[in-house]
Amino acid sequence: MEWWTMEAKEVRQALGTDQARGLTRQEAKRRLEEMGRNELAQSGGKRNLLFRFLAQFQDFMILLLLGAAAVSVLLSWHRGDGEYLDAVIIMVIVVFNALLGTIQESKAEKALEALKNMSAPTASVLREGQVCRIPAAEVVPGDLVLLSAGDYICADGRVVESNGMKTEESAVTGESMAVEKESDRIFPADTPLGDRKNMVLSGGYVLSGRGRMVVTATGMETEVGRIAHLLSQQEDSETPLQKKLARTGQLLGVGALAICAFIFCLGILQQKPPFQMFMTSVSLAVAAIPEGLPAIVTIVLALGTQRLSKRNTIVRRLPAVETLGGAEVICSDKTGTLTQNRMQVKMVTGGTKGADQKQKERILTFFALCSDCRMEKGKLAGEPTELALAEAALAEGISPEELWREMPREGEIPFSSARKRMTTLHRTEEGGWITVTKGAPEYLLERCDYVMEGDRQAAFDSGRKSKAQLQNGEMAAKALRVVAAAFRLWDRKPEMTEEVERHMVFAGMAGMEDPPRKEAMEAVRLCRQAGIRPVMITGDHVLTAEAVASQLGILEKGGSSMTGAQLEAMDEEALAKAAAECSVFARVAPEHKVRIVKALQKAGYVVAMTGDGVNDAPALKAADIGCAMGKSGTEVAKGASDLILTDDNFATIVTAVEEGRGIYDNIRKAVHFLLSSNIGEILTILGAMVLGWQTPLLPIQLLWVNLVTDSLPAVALGLEPVEKDCMCRPPRKEKSLFSGGLGSSILVEGLMIGMLALLAFGIGYVYFDRGGEGTVGRTMAFAVLSLSQLVHAFNMRSEHSLFRERPLGNPWLVGAFLAGTLLQCGAITLPFCQKIFGTAALDGTQWLATLALAFAPLPIVELEKLLRKKRGKTEAE
Ligand code: ATP
Repeated sequence: MEWWTMEAKEVRQALGTDQARGLTRQEAKRRLEEMGRNELAQSGGKRNLLFRFLAQFQDFMILLLLGAAAVSVLLSWHRGDGEYLDAVIIMVIVVFNALLGTIQESKAEKALEALKNMSAPTASVLREGQVCRIPAAEVVPGDLVLLSAGDYICADGRVVESNGMKTEESAVTGESMAVEKESDRIFPADTPLGDRKNMVLSGGYVLSGRGRMVVTATGMETEVGRIAHLLSQQEDSETPLQKKLARTGQLLGVGALAICAFIFCLGILQQKPPFQMFMTSVSLAVAAIPEGLPAIVTIVLALGTQRLSKRNTIVRRLPAVETLGGAEVICSDKTGTLTQNRMQVKMVTGGTKGADQKQKERILTFFALCSDCRMEKGKLAGEPTELALAEAALAEGISPEELWREMPREGEIPFSSARKRMTTLHRTEEGGWITVTKGAPEYLLERCDYVMEGDRQAAFDSGRKSKAQLQNGEMAAKALRVVAAAFRLWDRKPEMTEEVERHMVFAGMAGMEDPPRKEAMEAVRLCRQAGIRPVMITGDHVLTAEAVASQLGILEKGGSSMTGAQLEAMDEEALAKAAAECSVFARVAPEHKVRIVKALQKAGYVVAMTGDGVNDAPALKAADIGCAMGKSGTEVAKGASDLILTDDNFATIVTAVEEGRGIYDNIRKAVHFLLSSNIGEILTILGAMVLGWQTPLLPIQLLWVNLVTDSLPAVALGLEPVEKDCMCRPPRKEKSLFSGGLGSSILVEGLMIGMLALLAFGIGYVYFDRGGEGTVGRTMAFAVLSLSQLVHAFNMRSEHSLFRERPLGNPWLVGAFLAGTLLQCGAITLPFCQKIFGTAALDGTQWLATLALAFAPLPIVELEKLLRKKRGKTEAE
């Protein structure tokens, strides 16, 4: 259908839409079933469980193992001894490993999928006369959709109402200019897409103004659906850390492979059986190559996002979680984020002097007229600033409802943070017209030629203007948010352009109180303790902003503030210097936010920034961590953000930073554990070869250690609770995961594990095997290698002494330890397992020696931590 050639009414009729009530719920449901969801088809699609399981076998290491199993079968077959046990066990281990990988991957994917649903776009539609917010995917043709600044256009539609509604649809039309939409015009059939000004297109968004559309096409039927028949919307899902770790893993893998090749050659030179050496080298490669590194990061990140969502933060982009913990400056909006957004009018004054009762009523009448409130179930409802003004009028006996009925709104220029004012048009009782403007006093003052003084109007000369400014300043200094009202009378209905906001009569001002959020003060304190600088950004007057910032502790003695106008006068260099010191930015327009973010980044900071409006989107994108408001935020702001704060609260950002630090710590812990264990395994075998000993571990034993002792504790470490002191240290500065002593710790502790296992083998071989086959020595080495890693996992819990806080505080780790120990004991004591693993039952003395060695990592690493701390202290001094 060529909807743009039809009158709005015809379109509504054709689609069965009631102008005042929209569709019925039942009809909407029927259409949804018939036409399908309003979504674009994606290529790729979801991978099912079997596919994911099979994908695990693509791993190089797994293929290597399967190759080894095949070689082993071939050799046994060649020898004709029917010894297929090795191959069977390798298969069991491979399948088990793949199962574990599948489960972990599914869990991570589920967590991420749930997040995606939480942050899916929504739309306001009229159904059965009620405005409801529904997922955009459930919008159907014929729906009446309400559009306002910052909304995504979720489907193609015919505009049926437009109040200065401008849209940006470059994604579909290629036309980057904002287009003003009109509902009354119709266009010829051959009008190009970008010129059909009575249509809106899915994929665009509303820049300013508001309007309504009747949906004409959804999903793949829309113009974007047609352009890109199969859109691959899957973003690059790997985070920088994952990529870096994958690269590190590959590098370490190559190193491990080289060592394995070296071990193989050494074994051959030492005239060990080639087949045994082959299997040992392959198993060692499998055990030692850290192929699980990127996977473990995925799991920790995914589980971390789940934890964040429980604390009111929805993660939209995974990399932000890594950056989150490193935030150095948090730039926050004031209204609603740092304050409660519960406005109450505390003062009403005239322009030049205080107002008597009559003038007060007149001023409040103007505020009530120019108000975006509405009646809902007999009560006033609306955005807090609007509501406070309407309620103040009501308290003085002026009924906004009656006013709206007597003088209905005939036109408007909507409020925006950039303009800081709004205007409405009404018919007067005398048959003329009046425009009423309300907004920030400074913005109105310069547009007024007259001022009301009692009943009469006086010229608004510079003397009177400075008086008005003084009054504005006095209220602002009391932390009040000030809004002024002005009007202009017309004989004829004026065109609603910004021209109507000139030559007005200044009526008066109202000062509103908006108390700070209680939890914000504590959050600010926590920020400072954690070395993070909180910064307030607001559209309010600088004095209001400073007063509130001081109450909250954001502005301390000696701290500075800056206005949007001052900011505009600075070049990049000067701004970067000034921004590094400034705690309050006042009277800023949304466009200034991008400059603030960039200036702070230029000064070397990692910046978190909040935002809610459509114009905040560029700043949210530019920030290292863009946080959109879940409640008051527009869809565009949410779409541009990394995180969504579901409660619009500053304290939530601080909690998120704390969680972010915890998640990063946990990744470090898991990587620390995995790598030190792997190095331990390599050194055990390598050490024995260099010393010319027998192989201290059988291939099967190596694989078992890799499976049992490596993966479970690593995942458990990813679930560590956030360390208590994590907000007592400054943000991490280091760029690499391995800096800050992690690299050397890994090496030292790997060496420790290797030496303990070798020691166990040595003791067993010399004292108990007495030069025999080495079964006891091997069993002891096997047990020590595996158990010492399980014990060592506890060392990872903190960089401080394990005993400083509850050593068993992570139930997952305790569980992993118990399960691992039980399995390990089973592998040694059960006769059936002894056959498989080539182990021997240990007697009391042997167990005692084994346990002593297995628990040795505890005191050794405690000592290492102590030494590091001491060295850190002396370095600091
Ligand atoms: P923040 O960025 O902290 O949320 P804000 O919401 O106070 O700041 P703006 O919305 O830009 O910032 O408001 C700036 C000024 O605009 C206010 O100080 C007030 O004078 C005026 N103002 C705010 N809301 C309205 C409104 N609904 N109608 C008219 N003027 C308003």
